[in-house]
Amino acid sequence: MRLYSTKKSVPEVSFKEALFKGLPSDNGLYMPLEIPTLPQSFFDTIEQKSFAEIAFEVSKALIGDDIPSTDLKKIIDDVISFDAPVVKVQDNMYVLELFHGPSLAFKDFGARFMSRVMSYYLAKDKQDINILVATSGDTGGAVAQGFYNMPGIHVTILYPSGKVSDLQEKQLTTLGGNITALEVQGTFDDCQRMVKEAFLDADLNAKFNLSSANSINISRLIPQSFYYFYAYAQVKKLGKDVVFSVPSGNFGNLCGGLIAKRMGLPIAHFVATTNANNVIPDYLASGVFNPRPSVRTISNAMDVGNPSNYQRLVAFYNEDIKAIRADITGKYFTDEQTEEIIKKVYDATGYVLDPHTAVAYLGLRAYMNENSTKDVTGIFLSTAHPAKFIEVVNDVIGKNIEIPESLQAAGKLKKVSVPMGNQFKDLKEYLLK
Ligand SMILES: *Cc1c(COP(=O)(O)O)cnc(C)c1O
Repeated sequence: MRLYSTKKSVPEVSFKEALFKGLPSDNGLYMPLEIPTLPQSFFDTIEQKSFAEIAFEVSKALIGDDIPSTDLKKIIDDVISFDAPVVKVQDNMYVLELFHGPSLAFKDFGARFMSRVMSYYLAKDKQDINILVATSGDTGGAVAQGFYNMPGIHVTILYPSGKVSDLQEKQLTTLGGNITALEVQGTFDDCQRMVKEAFLDADLNAKFNLSSANSINISRLIPQSFYYFYAYAQVKKLGKDVVFSVPSGNFGNLCGGLIAKRMGLPIAHFVATTNANNVIPDYLASGVFNPRPSVRTISNAMDVGNPSNYQRLVAFYNEDIKAIRADITGKYFTDEQTEEIIKKVYDATGYVLDPHTAVAYLGLRAYMNENSTKDVTGIFLSTAHPAKFIEVVNDVIGKNIEIPESLQAAGKLKKVSVPMGNQFKDLKEYLLK
């Protein structure tokens, strides 16, 4: 697999280089030079294949010989150890549940794949790395769970004290082993600044092999294409192309879908759905990309004012906005609309949407109402289990939803964190001692 930078001012790199480098030095993003189309025979029998079999064939086609087949197969079987079922909610409204992994959110796919391919190369090269991440909540949980016990990798997670939910904090601070949680007396921005400074610091770089688990790493994008294929396999018997509504923040999830479409999956259309942070829906409507400060919403994992995958989104289409609009419709919704639909869908069907999933539901429903959709199957992506946002959900539906055992178990474990000031010198002192 060869990758180029969207800014096109640095040389192409291998998958391994893009994996460990994360970002090209010209400030672009790595994109696959070629996205192969899968043979018709793959789609003819896709409904007979398991999720792991589908994921293996997709990843093999993308990554090529960079990882030998037997090794890649082992990695995929380990990554895809839980299901992603498509569930019918209403007439032609299906949900793809991406929350059955260890942190109960779709980021598990990216974190698990990234950690395992990194660990694979590190073992071969007999090397170690130190991953530094700042989190405002959700990413940290997926990274902690995804990288836990991975040989050769030490993970240090910075989170703002008192500013993540109790459950999120438990997911970060109860694993131990190769995962260390630093509880910063400050804000998420402080955490992010401290990590950025660490990557630039000569002393730290001399002592450690530092890396990030950044959400725009190509290794987090690739596995996010797998479940689009698997979703199609589950509804193929309906005999129609599919429309996906994707609840979006940085648009990595949507870019996974664009890879799947390029590889030949019969996706008729995408709905790029956001909360009030509607920079991309605005761009699709006006043709102008206008990033701005994020606003707080109840679907807070999508509170992004400058979506990092915008560069990739336009690179898929050579910046041709007409071509983008032919494939992607933008929609956005307020918190009031989100709460209202959680209640309405629960009352009508008994299905509980988390706030992010509810936004995706609204996007799909709006698209289906505006277009002739008798020839398509509508699927909205569910990116988090409702219990992760239990305060909102219980309040809106007027009932206490059930908490999955894994969350209950984490809730009972003892938090272990290292108290930390909000200055880079505090972090540096800690890392060097
Ligand atoms: C991260 C996240 C999103 C947004 O995904 P992007 O790939 O950033 O668009 C949506 N829902 C949940 C629950 C998330 O954690």
